[in-house]
Amino acid sequence: MAVLQRIKGTNDILPDHLGSGIFRSGLWRRLEETSLRVASLSGYHEIRTPIFESTELFVRGLGDVTDIVKKEMFSFTDRGERQLTLRPEGTASVVRAWIENGIGVSDAVARLSYLGPMFRAERPQKGRYRQFHQFGIECIGGGEVRHDIEVIAVFWNIIRSLGVSGVTLRINSVGCPECIPHYRDVLRAYFEPFIGELCDDCRERHRTNVLRMLDCKNPACQAVLSSAPPVTGHLCGECAASWDGLRHGLDLAGIPWLHDTRLVRGLDYYTKTAFEIVHEDIGAQGTIVGGGRYDGLVAASGGQAVPAVGGAFGIERMLLAMQAGDPALSPATRPRFFLVQIGDGVDDDIERLLSGLRLHGIYAMRADGSRQMAKQMRAAAKFASLEVVFVGGDEWNSGRLAIKNMDSGEQDTLVVGPAGVLACLLERAGA
Ligand code: AMP
Repeated sequence: MAVLQRIKGTNDILPDHLGSGIFRSGLWRRLEETSLRVASLSGYHEIRTPIFESTELFVRGLGDVTDIVKKEMFSFTDRGERQLTLRPEGTASVVRAWIENGIGVSDAVARLSYLGPMFRAERPQKGRYRQFHQFGIECIGGGEVRHDIEVIAVFWNIIRSLGVSGVTLRINSVGCPECIPHYRDVLRAYFEPFIGELCDDCRERHRTNVLRMLDCKNPACQAVLSSAPPVTGHLCGECAASWDGLRHGLDLAGIPWLHDTRLVRGLDYYTKTAFEIVHEDIGAQGTIVGGGRYDGLVAASGGQAVPAVGGAFGIERMLLAMQAGDPALSPATRPRFFLVQIGDGVDDDIERLLSGLRLHGIYAMRADGSRQMAKQMRAAAKFASLEVVFVGGDEWNSGRLAIKNMDSGEQDTLVVGPAGVLACLLERAGA
């Protein structure tokens, strides 16, 4: 019978010692825990929403001219003839939950974080998957520019806490319904004489979503696009003040930024601040974090007209960025002690030690199967154990403990005190 395989564009994330590259679950857990912890320092706490929602939610929230809604959603009809979609992003669901649970009544400014799988039918490549994972935060009700800065700073701090370097924060403004219609006209008029030289996508966007033309990556279009008039010359008074405040606030926070005049968000509900954090060397899919202000979404989703700002990063891409700085990406989970048995008659000692160590919160293992020394040492290495403790043999019988550090290869001999072997190992592990 043919062996069934996972669907293209999806991944299995294995235990650290079995997986390779970024697909090791200990690394994922480390990244997730760091992200949740750093976000919580600014008051962002986790909300969990369903993985599928009504299709209507995303069509309304994202707008039916965006690529996601037009061609990337995994939608299906359930047995009750309901139109459902696997969530392609997190914001629409968080806003729905905010409305449905009346969160705005108790928290005028609600700070929420989320984490989990998202689904988009994109062409898979390195850094782009059909099931991918995001960590995101939303500040719903936060209408001041300091909220934009707070959101960007959370992502900046997560990146720093994970030790990722080589990233650039790019910012722009995408205006608001007051000033953007005028800017759209300016852009449309600018592109008009060049339309014959541009790609099919650009020609279509010229009619449907002219801002997105700035986003085009087609080499043939670049010369025309890079000379397009920047939005920041066409902002209304309020958006211009917000744009000034954003740059000033980022300077105060010590977060370096770059003005990217062609940064527009693919989603229709964004207003004012747009930002991305890009990594220079993880290939074509270098945008790790994307976000911005979306003052129009909550009202468009049937809630009160409250301002909001947020963003999200792709977990896979963040891990690729970590790997770019540390190609070996040391596993997050490694046994503190691996007990290697020498000779017979020490089985009970080993089991008693393992129980005692684990009871004190220490990750400790022994080999399964063969008692051959080489095989036990190989097992210790496979789990990336920190230290091997030899149980049995002459040293053991004379009240000494031989311990080998698996990173340095150095061996130590400890004299076991009157409190016994367990106490000696606990002290060594600082437990
Ligand atoms: P977006 O929701 O499109 O603003 O995306 C936010 C972030 O999610 C991006 O910067 C990527 O890091 C990540 N992302 C988006 N789409 C994918 C995908 N198909 N595969 C992997 N990561 C993705």
